[in-house]
Amino acid sequence: MSDNTPTGVNNLARQIVKDLVPYASARSSMSGGAVWLNANENALAPGYQLDGTFNRYPSCQPKAVINAYAEYAGVAPEQVLVSRGADEGIELLIRSFCEPKQDSITICPPTYGMYAISAESNQTMVNKVLLINNEQLDLAGIFATSPKLVFICSPNNPTGDLIPREQIIAVLQHFAGKALVVVDEAYIEFAPQASVVNLLSQYPHLVILRTLSKAFGLAGLRCGFTLASAEIINALKKMIAPYPIAEPVAQIAAQALSATGIAQMQQSVASINQLRDDFIVFAKTQSGINKVWPSNANYVLLQVDNAADCVSALIKSDILIRNQSSQLGLSQVVRVSVGTADEMQRLQQAMQQYFLNNQATKRARA
Ligand SMILES: *Cc1c(COP(=O)(O)O)cnc(C)c1O
Repeated sequence: MSDNTPTGVNNLARQIVKDLVPYASARSSMSGGAVWLNANENALAPGYQLDGTFNRYPSCQPKAVINAYAEYAGVAPEQVLVSRGADEGIELLIRSFCEPKQDSITICPPTYGMYAISAESNQTMVNKVLLINNEQLDLAGIFATSPKLVFICSPNNPTGDLIPREQIIAVLQHFAGKALVVVDEAYIEFAPQASVVNLLSQYPHLVILRTLSKAFGLAGLRCGFTLASAEIINALKKMIAPYPIAEPVAQIAAQALSATGIAQMQQSVASINQLRDDFIVFAKTQSGINKVWPSNANYVLLQVDNAADCVSALIKSDILIRNQSSQLGLSQVVRVSVGTADEMQRLQQAMQQYFLNNQATKRARA
């Protein structure tokens, strides 16, 4: 690759950096729009207080946050790592357990994009074993791989499915002593009964990822958690930056994890789950929607005739949703995050109009 920058810096960068394609996040790939239903955020935004001064370096692992999360999750404080979002947890796991150019991870597409992206930047190979019918693990396929880490996302982003507990246990049993099994529970607050956190005591190679970005409404805070045996947590602590959690982040996270904060989150989850179920009922009545995935989270996946067209039509109504059609195993799908009641109303009106227009065009052509 030739360097056409004035400084020649591109020639100095590592080959892997030259080859990497910048990640297009929901936020970075946004253009305009007033109604944001494309990043699975919580539309409700609780307020927080900051106090004190910030002239001192923060604690690497702030005790108030660790203890509050341990209590909330029902684990011991030694089993908790707090990081700059669950995304940093993913990256730390790969950097701590995968030898570059040698080890691999196993993922089950269609699924969350950051596992493969973090692997790539650590020169780690990615075994892709597609979900069966977008909902069940292909156990035989997974067992045919020899990874250091297996990533299972449940509820799965973007399908919304829960991975059956028996299947997670089967994966844990197969990889005992061979690999870590990472269950990404970023959306578990929307289906708390499905958590596998109570398997931690039985399986020392189980890792669970959590976040304040979704149900807790704090995507802008960048605060996530890794739950695992103390041994795994200690390995990750060797790799984490000295001050990963800014003091204001620690203060806000502790407030979010107070009894009041948790009660607020639970209320918000109840209302989002209701809005989601209402939206699913609506979506099933639309003749332009060919499939509606059942959802256990704050988003719904829909199959339409033309996903790109559907996304651009909604942008004209100032509504952003996300095209997920490039995901392995999916085609012509859009993912809709659940917003406020008012936003869902606007979404349904815009969608109804779009599908009616489509129908009219189809009939005119026929
Ligand atoms: C949003 C999301 C994350 C990342 O959460 P952050 O804490 O914001 O980094 C991890 N996993 C899945 C499946 C997600 O959807």
